[in-house]
Amino acid sequence: MEIVFLGTTAAVPSAARGHSGIALKYHDEVILWDCGEGTQRQLIVSKTNYMKIKKIFITHFHGDHFLGLPGLIQTLSFADRREDLHVYAPKGIKDLIENIMHLGEYGLKYDIVAHTLSDNFELKDEKYTIKSIKVEHSIPTYGLVFEEVKGREFLLDRAKKLGIPPGPAYSKLQKGEKIKLGGKWIYPDDVLGEKKKGFKVVYSSDTRPCGAVIENCRDAVLIHDATFDGSLKNNAIETMHSTCTEAAQVAKEGVAKELYLMHISPRYKTDELLLKESRKIFRNTMVARDLQRVELLHKSL
Ligand SMILES: [Zn+2]
Ligand SMILES: [Zn+2]
Repeated sequence: MEIVFLGTTAAVPSAARGHSGIALKYHDEVILWDCGEGTQRQLIVSKTNYMKIKKIFITHFHGDHFLGLPGLIQTLSFADRREDLHVYAPKGIKDLIENIMHLGEYGLKYDIVAHTLSDNFELKDEKYTIKSIKVEHSIPTYGLVFEEVKGREFLLDRAKKLGIPPGPAYSKLQKGEKIKLGGKWIYPDDVLGEKKKGFKVVYSSDTRPCGAVIENCRDAVLIHDATFDGSLKNNAIETMHSTCTEAAQVAKEGVAKELYLMHISPRYKTDELLLKESRKIFRNTMVARDLQRVELLHKSL
């Protein structure tokens, strides 16, 4: 699994940072979290295949998080996409898609399926779940939680001791079915151990520090709003964003694995101040940069 930061700025772009966009590459799929202006170009520059995007999540309707959508939708059609595109966003997404269809001469070769996010929305795929969590911003905004679905560990030693022949019997037990061996029942619990840990990525989107993120970020790679440095807390309160020190506090309280600061104000020309302040609170902090890739490996969980 890989996280590709496409855009990491706050509100206005700079030479170094574009508008919000994160690509999650998981197996053969690309999931897009936010689609600020310039996202499609960043996908190309980062060599992320936009034809593999099946789902786009828009966390809220501030321009810096969704204005890249019309262009990307058009490009996918030029590239001869035929597969449905699923777009998940707060209430109003159906109207927005309708409006995009009336922007200029807009013809599409595929369908867009709009889904409305809510406080308890959860997308269940075979291999992962994505749920939306209500965060605290100036307009309705949802943070996102990606969790890989993992089964329990198969205890080979125990299976061998019980004399179970490798093959179909193993997979039956792994699927949670009991099997009969030499007139005796063997149950999944006899050969299955702890649940394996899967990947977890949490994106706060634009928000004040809030309980919903703290409660959901345990062991996760947390991507958090850090528009301001610690001295500008009043600005953060006024605009309903977070400072880097507040983001670090959230990661610490929620026991996240790693913290990536995002939505960085263009006033910061280097990462130094933000890193220095936040690492005092949460050591494993990085400042996300445009086109940065973060590879997640199971062994590091
Ligand atoms: Zn924003
Ligand atoms: Zn916003």
